[in-house]
Amino acid sequence: MITFEIGMDEILKQLPQCAKDTHNETKKFFNTLKKKPPKHLDVLMQELHDDEFERTDCLTCANCCKTTGPLFTDKDVARIAKHFRMKEQKFIETYLRVDEDNDFVLQQVPCTFLGADNYCSIYDVRPKACGEFPHTNRKKFQQITDLTLQNVAICPAAYNIVEEMKKRLKK
Ligand code: SF4
Ligand code: SF4
Repeated sequence: MITFEIGMDEILKQLPQCAKDTHNETKKFFNTLKKKPPKHLDVLMQELHDDEFERTDCLTCANCCKTTGPLFTDKDVARIAKHFRMKEQKFIETYLRVDEDNDFVLQQVPCTFLGADNYCSIYDVRPKACGEFPHTNRKKFQQITDLTLQNVAICPAAYNIVEEMKKRLKK
């Protein structure tokens, strides 16, 4: 586990290497999980997620908003454009692009809506994916292990949750 005593800047500096060092082991663990997920997986993930986010202050981090950014669904676009009193097409042209999977994503990262104080300026209407990141309390977590393998390199909370998961399920 990455300890929060060293401060978030240092954690974010160390995280990519930690994720690299544990990549093969985590991949193997996820492969086994996908084949035979334990019956209590949903309950366990909710517990690990809640415990971790009691320790983690996202406002000291914001690494997801700085390095990746969410997908914008049509509903997200409609809601956020309305918030800005912009036409949806104008909102799309100003802030979004279509990626290789045909999804709307941010034109640039860090996210335009992220403030210098790490607050989200559209928090109340932010994309659904932002509210759900890093998806570690998702039901049927075994279905999003490929995505999680990427997320552990950018989200210290996701990294810690996966490390704790490995410990708990290896017992
Ligand atoms: S969700 Fe993860 S990456 Fe995003 S701010 Fe919180 S700890 Fe950082
Ligand atoms: S919309 Fe808000 S929460 Fe989502 S990536 Fe941008 S700053 Fe972060």
